[in-house]
Amino acid sequence: LIWIICTGRLPKSFPGFTMTPKPLNDCVICNGTILTLDPAFTVIPKGFITVDDHRITQIAELADDTVIPPARKVIDAEGGIIMPGLVNTHGHLPMALFRGLADDLPLDAWLNECIFPAEAAHIKPDTVAVGTALSVAEMLLSGTTCCCDGYFLEDHQAETVAETGIRAVLGQGVIDFPAPGVADPKENVAHAAAFVDRWRSRTPLIAPSIFCHSPYTCSAETLRAAKAAADDRGALFQIHAAETQSERSRCIAQHQRTPIHYLDDLGVLDTRTLIAHAVWVDDADIQILARSGARVSHNPESNMKLACGIAPVADMLNAGIRVGLGTDGCASNNNLDLFQEMDTAAKLHKVCALDPTVTDAPSVLKMATIHGAECLGLAHETGSLEPGKQADIIIIDTHRPRLTPMFSPVSQLVYAATGADVRHVLVAGRVLVENQCLTTIDLPGLAARLQPIGKRIMALFARGAF
Ligand SMILES: [Zn+2]
Repeated sequence: LIWIICTGRLPKSFPGFTMTPKPLNDCVICNGTILTLDPAFTVIPKGFITVDDHRITQIAELADDTVIPPARKVIDAEGGIIMPGLVNTHGHLPMALFRGLADDLPLDAWLNECIFPAEAAHIKPDTVAVGTALSVAEMLLSGTTCCCDGYFLEDHQAETVAETGIRAVLGQGVIDFPAPGVADPKENVAHAAAFVDRWRSRTPLIAPSIFCHSPYTCSAETLRAAKAAADDRGALFQIHAAETQSERSRCIAQHQRTPIHYLDDLGVLDTRTLIAHAVWVDDADIQILARSGARVSHNPESNMKLACGIAPVADMLNAGIRVGLGTDGCASNNNLDLFQEMDTAAKLHKVCALDPTVTDAPSVLKMATIHGAECLGLAHETGSLEPGKQADIIIIDTHRPRLTPMFSPVSQLVYAATGADVRHVLVAGRVLVENQCLTTIDLPGLAARLQPIGKRIMALFARGAF
């Protein structure tokens, strides 16, 4: 009794007496078709999932005589699809502020004449936080429970992300010229390393990372140092590479190697390296990627919009490369809906190969879930529904004309569903979207904060400042 009074807690056991485990689960989700995305690709036509202490504790069939375990919260999927939350392996959260600001331009002009000047003028701690909240709101509402970001002023993204409850890999940007928050490029790697140190133990939902912008904006010395700093901290090393034909040509002219070959020779490719894009890769590059174990984030809509080209995804998959799906930043997509990205990815490679059998629906669904989680080094926690894993779960409302009739849930998810069909979203067992409403983000308040920022960006644009 004295122990209880002093600590305010019940002891786990007394001599000769053990406390019974707590009788209630935190949550049970029932009455839906469960797509587990586990190694056997198990589908349970009608089942339930229990969640306790942030994790999935049970997945089982729901028969007429099944007694559903008691829980503090019961979510009725109403015959919908219960599946892992989607994993967006590449993006730039604050760029939601620049959605639609500059379209229909080649990458070089888009970056140098629009995006870089807009960022220089408008990327500040408060705008980064607002843009991040906007992106997270859009992702959660469309079923993404884990995202991967690379940008500047990353502490402010991290603070905002932590408030929203989404799971994220957050990469502090590294680039060899003055950037928001890093006036002296000589400090860029140390700055990124300090970010990782600050956030590595802050919350289990955020994995800090180091994000080098590209092989053409970072020197060999910077790339090696950034990779070493990431390795020392067990962090993911991210980089855009082989995105455009001109990048490849310039790299060959300057280094006598393709971008992938160049990065390999620098020693920065391994299983904790994530290459965003990998569009202009040849057979030798694919062999390098496969041998090194480097992961690839495939961003088909961004690559299409900027006319970068078509990544040879079918060849990469055949070579055993782990490929995840990403949207890239809002300004080059222009949305963060991974359902649309799945549809695009599946169809793009069919028409490219003139072969409708490539990138089939199950492969693409894996890219958006478990394989995406593998790309981020998080497959032990998320990307599939399995007992012991974190409860990152979404529920799809299948009572929609576009999802009827339901011959194949996988087909419907890849080719017919959109993010608007997501009804509930849980991350680590916490309900972040309930009946299509955000529980941790105040949307009207966010809109009010966005309005003056949007006006400032438009005023600069109208003056022809970029
Ligand atoms: Zn990008």
